[in-house]
Amino acid sequence: MLPLAWFRQLVLVIVAVLGISAVLHARVVQDSADAVGRSMRFDVSWIGAHGRIEAAQLEVHLARYAALRLPADAESAELYYQILLGRLDSWDVGGYREFLDSSPANRETFDRLRLLVESFEAEFSDLSQVESLPALLEAWRPVGPAIDQIGAEATTSAVSKAAEIRETLTERQAVQNYLVVTLLGAGLLLLVLLLLQNRSLRRAHADARRAADNFSYVARHDSLTGLPNRNAFVAYEESGVPNGKRLAVIALDLDGFKLVNDTWGHVFGDKLLVQVAQRLEAAIRGKPGALVARLGGDEFVVLTYPRTAREAKGFAEKVLADITRPYDIDGGKVTIGATAGLALADDQRWDAMTLMADADLAQNEAKVSKKGSVGLYNATLRQGVERRLRLENALRDAIGRGEIVPNYQVQVDLRSNAIVGVEALARWQHPELGSVSPAEFIPIAEASGQIAHIGRYMIEQACRDAMLLPDDIHVAVNLSVIQIMQGEVIETVENALRASGLPAQRLKLEVTESVLMVNPKRVIEVLEGLRSRGIAIALDDFGTGFSSLSYLSTFRWDELKIDRSFLQNLDEDTLGLAIIQAILVMAKELGAKVIVEGIESPKQVQLLEHTGCDIGQGFLFGRPEPIAAVRATILKDRGLASQPAVGTTDQETA
Ligand code: C2E
Ligand code: MG
Ligand code: MG
Repeated sequence: MLPLAWFRQLVLVIVAVLGISAVLHARVVQDSADAVGRSMRFDVSWIGAHGRIEAAQLEVHLARYAALRLPADAESAELYYQILLGRLDSWDVGGYREFLDSSPANRETFDRLRLLVESFEAEFSDLSQVESLPALLEAWRPVGPAIDQIGAEATTSAVSKAAEIRETLTERQAVQNYLVVTLLGAGLLLLVLLLLQNRSLRRAHADARRAADNFSYVARHDSLTGLPNRNAFVAYEESGVPNGKRLAVIALDLDGFKLVNDTWGHVFGDKLLVQVAQRLEAAIRGKPGALVARLGGDEFVVLTYPRTAREAKGFAEKVLADITRPYDIDGGKVTIGATAGLALADDQRWDAMTLMADADLAQNEAKVSKKGSVGLYNATLRQGVERRLRLENALRDAIGRGEIVPNYQVQVDLRSNAIVGVEALARWQHPELGSVSPAEFIPIAEASGQIAHIGRYMIEQACRDAMLLPDDIHVAVNLSVIQIMQGEVIETVENALRASGLPAQRLKLEVTESVLMVNPKRVIEVLEGLRSRGIAIALDDFGTGFSSLSYLSTFRWDELKIDRSFLQNLDEDTLGLAIIQAILVMAKELGAKVIVEGIESPKQVQLLEHTGCDIGQGFLFGRPEPIAAVRATILKDRGLASQPAVGTTDQETA
C-alpha cells in the first residue's frame, strides 16, 4: 500500500503540475493571439503597393496632359500628387513606420522618396504654369522606381515577419501540445493514484476489521486454556431457556492449586489448568446451550440447563469427579482436588450473573465446611454474607465505642487445683446483634485487616488487667497470624509491658500452628524475638489442622495447648487419651508444658489425672469472665476476700 504521506505529496505535485500547466497554457494562447495581431499590423506590403498605383496614374495623366493639354488631365495629375503626398504622410505612422524604423536603409530610402516627391510641390500646384511638361515628366520618372524599391523592401520585410510569426505560432503550438499531453498525463496519473489508494484503503479497512475481530476474540477468551473468559461470561445472554429446563451455574475452584504452582512451578500449573479446561469442555459436550469459562486463576464456571435440581447436582458432582481424576503431566501422575458451588434459577433469581454470585457463595461455603464437595446455594448463605458485611462495618468503631473487651478464663494446675493463669478472650457486645463470638468476628477482622487494631488493644488491656491480679498469675493473649506478619507485635508488646508495668514473665502469647504455614521464617523470627524478651509462647489448638510434627521442631514452644476436640468423647474414646499421652511424652522431650483445653466434667479430670497433664482450662473451672469477676474468683480460690481493686472498671459478664 502507498504510504499516506507519499500519496499526499504525489497528489500535491500533480496538482502543482496541473496548475502550472494551466497558467502556461493561458500564456501560450495569449502569445498566439498577440502574434496573429502582430501579423495583421505588419502586413505592410500592400500599403507600399498603394503608392505605386498613384505614382503611375499621376504619370499617365501627366503624359496625356503633355500631349493633349486637356485641363482634366492636369487636374487628375495634381489630385494624384496630393493623394501621394497624403499617402506618404500616412506611411510614416503605425505599422509602416515601425517597418521604416526597423532598418536605417529603409528610413533613408523613404526619406529620399519623400524629398523627391515634395520637390515637385510647386509644379503640381498648377500644371498650366509649368514651362516644359516633357522635362517634368522626365524628372518625375524616378519616383515610380523609388516607390517600387521601398515597396519591395516592405514586401520582403512582411514576408520575413510573417515567417517569424508563423514560426512563433508553430512553437507555441508545440508547447501547447506538450502542455495538453502533460495535463492529460497528470490527470491520468492522478486517476491511477486515486484508484490505487482506494484499493489500498479498502484492503486496510479489511485488515482493520480482521484485527478488530481478532481483538474481540482475544478479549473474550482466556489465552492459556482457550476457554471463554470472564468478559465472555459476563456478556453471555441466554438465548432462551429450553422448555421444561432451568438455568444452572456451577462455580468451580481447584483446591490447593497455589501449592501445586509453588511446588512444581507455573509452567506445570499452566499445563494442569489446560487439562482441567479440556475435561470441562468434554463434560459439557453434547449439552445444548452449555458454556464453560475460566474466570481467572483456578476458578472456572459451568453454565448448563438441567431439568431438575437433582439432575443439576448430579451433573455438578460428575464434573467434579471428572476434573479430580489423575492427570498425566510431564510423564507423572498428578491429582488435584476441587470444590463446587451450585445455583439454580428460580422465580426471583434467573439471570446468569446473579446465579454466578450465588454459586460462588455456595462454593466458598463448601470450601470452608466440606472441601471437595458440591455446595448448594440457599437463602441462609446470603444472610450469612450479609451478616458478615454488617459485622465488618460495625467492627470499625467497635473498640472506640468500648464494645470489645477481654474476658478472662482461668487456667488451673491439675495437681494442686490452684489457679495459675488466665487466658484473655475477646468479647464483643454489639448494641443490636448482642454478643458476637470471637470465632465469628476474629476471622472477619483478620480478613479486613482490623485484627491489628483489635489485637493491639487486647494486648494492652490484658497487660493492664493482669496488674490487678496476684503477681504469680500469668495472662495469655491470643495472637493472629496477620498481627505477626504486620511486624509491629514486638513493639506493641514492649510498649504494653512498659505502659502497664507488667513483667514480661507474666505474659504468654498463644498462636495456632496455622501461623507457621504462611511464612515460617518470618514468623519464627518474630516469635523468637518475643521469647528472647522473656515472654512465653504457646502453641494453641494443638492437634487440629495440619498438625505437622515439624512445627514442633522448628521452634522452642513453652507450652502446647491440646485442643478441646480431643476431650469430647474421652470417656469412651481410649484413642483420644492415647493421643494426649503421646503428646505429653513429646512435650516432655521438648521441654514444653501441656495445657488441656475444654475440660467440662470431673470425669475428664479424673481420666487426665493418670496422664500427668500439667494444666487444664475449661468450663469446669470457670467460663470467660470480665476482669473484676475473674479477680474475685482468684482471690476466693486463695481464701482471700475480694476487694475492689484500684482502676478496675465494672464490666459486664459475657
Ligand atoms: P482459643 O484461643 O482456643 O480459646 C479457647 C476457646 O474455647 C474460647 O472460645 C473458650 O471460650 C472456649 N472454651 C474454653 N473452655 C471450654 C469448654 O470447656 N468447653 C467449650 N465448649 N469451650 C470452651 P471463644 O472465646 O469463643 O474463642 C474462640 C477463639 O477465638 C479462640 O480460641 C481464639 O482462637 C479466638 N480469639 C478469642 N479472642 C481472641 C483475640 O483476642 N485475638 C485472637 N487473635 N484470637 C482470639
Ligand atoms: Mg487461645
Ligand atoms: Mg485453643
